Amino acid sequence: MSRVETEVLIIGGGIGGAAIARELSRYTADATLVEKGADVGQGITKYSSTIMCQGANVLEFRSEYHNSRLVWAGMPLMEPLCRELDVPFKRIGSLELVENQAGMRHPEKMMRRFKDWHGKYLPSDIEPLQFIDRDTLRAWEPNVDKKYIGAVYDPNIAVNDPVRLTIALVDNAKKNGINVLLETEVLDIKAGTDGFEVWTNNGSIACRYIINAAGEYVGKIAQMVDADDFAMYPVKSYQAVLDKKVGGLINRMVLATGSGMVSPTIHGNLFFGISPGSQRLGKAHDHSTDKKLADTALRHAQELVPAVSAADIINSFVGFIVFRNFEIGWHECTVGVSRWVPRFINASIGFPGICAAPGVAKEMIDILTRQGLRLAENPRFDPYEKAMPDFSDLSDEEKKELIARDPRYGHVVCRCETVTEGEIVEAIRRGARTLDGVKFRCRPGMGRCQGGFCGPRVTRILARELGISEEEVTKKGGESRNLLYKGKELLEAHQ
Ligand SMILES: Cc1cc2nc3c(=O)[nH]c(=O)nc-3n(C[C@H](O)[C@H](O)[C@H](O)COP(=O)(O)OP(=O)(O)OC[C@H]3O[C@@H](n4cnc5c(N)ncnc54)[C@H](O)[C@@H]3O)c2cc1C
Repeated sequence: MSRVETEVLIIGGGIGGAAIARELSRYTADATLVEKGADVGQGITKYSSTIMCQGANVLEFRSEYHNSRLVWAGMPLMEPLCRELDVPFKRIGSLELVENQAGMRHPEKMMRRFKDWHGKYLPSDIEPLQFIDRDTLRAWEPNVDKKYIGAVYDPNIAVNDPVRLTIALVDNAKKNGINVLLETEVLDIKAGTDGFEVWTNNGSIACRYIINAAGEYVGKIAQMVDADDFAMYPVKSYQAVLDKKVGGLINRMVLATGSGMVSPTIHGNLFFGISPGSQRLGKAHDHSTDKKLADTALRHAQELVPAVSAADIINSFVGFIVFRNFEIGWHECTVGVSRWVPRFINASIGFPGICAAPGVAKEMIDILTRQGLRLAENPRFDPYEKAMPDFSDLSDEEKKELIARDPRYGHVVCRCETVTEGEIVEAIRRGARTLDGVKFRCRPGMGRCQGGFCGPRVTRILARELGISEEEVTKKGGESRNLLYKGKELLEAHQ
């Protein structure tokens, strides 16, 4: 069992903890991030709809909320951040559909608010909203239901890949001096006069400051030191991903008041989910889906785009969309020093937390400084990361060049997503240790077969590259072993 001494301990390797770690790496901070999973970005961050609040989708927010301020602060930061870290970011635009004249009430309110907030809360370089009529809507999105008489078009809305962003943030933080410990679960914390003693499954950690960015488990961690001076409620949210073959059904995110939404992803799929208004409270950590939830979401999606079909769903899942704080209100977050425990900072970043994360990270530096942490600029801070090659995205010329350099790029392992052995080996070289680690870095298993065909091949490559047996390869660390028996043992077990 090891003992680590660090000045700042960040608990949780989701987008929140990752953004904070990377921001701290701009300074000569002695900081450690611990993540209980085998990889980062596998908590709530993995379930995000990937929509980046860049325009009208922040107009629902209440201006007095802390969360609103964090998202507004993050708006101009997100695209440059993705550029620095070489993570995809694409403006797809959104269409809020209008069914009849009475349905204009909400869009008109949004357009009024957009004008009032433009340059005040919203960045001044943001593109204006515009109303498009029925004919334009038909021309732009022929697969949207014909009942809609028009839509409010917001060209600003964007999508990205939050898990890749989290991985890149953590890689960059590590490169700039932050200590990262995976498969390290915080089990207990004791607050002393000058600092904290933290017990994990891998030993103890002594630290002076704690940033609690444990996502769904933020309350559990805070309770360990009686710093749970907030109330949180998980809200269950269902999402489904459609096959890429129907990825062209729509080009922009479409939504309607009181209904769901359908949107392209950054990788060319479509997905749909139930909007917050029609969600229901779920028991924390229960990620099961059920038919009622799935049917409701599909019905909502088909109201918008009738051609969305259950037959094209390749994956569906449930995440906890916010910790809704009924004491304060919808969409509020809990980011700040505990009222009762000095130097213990809760960072429950709420919804939309991916968008809030860059703002949270900046604010965290102020909070830590006000709590007495001395920070000097890191003279060796390098903000850039280079993404690994994405074979399916390259031109023929580039593909040939890559194969000539490394023939493993000529061997396609995942046919659904055209992922090569070269990419899988590179993902492992960059830190993937599990099937999910590889999947979220370069996408084998993200297509129609969901890993049914390529899974065994990826297992073999992982075993070979890590120097372990195939039985030791796991889906996501811990006991999630993929192969319980070798073929021969399985036969013997069934005799
Ligand atoms: C369905 C859905 C759709 C969403 N859509 C959007 C969207 O479109 N745009 C947007 O901006 N936001 C969206 N969000 C919100 C966003 O995903 C979250 O706000 C954000 O991911 C929260 O990040 P986090 O780092 O706080 O939590 P997490 O990602 O959960 O990270 C916390 C980490 O802490 C780790 N941890 C927990 N306990 C311990 C422990 N004891 N020891 C060590 N580590 C621990 C966990 O393993 C986890 O990795 C969506 C959320 C959901 C569920």
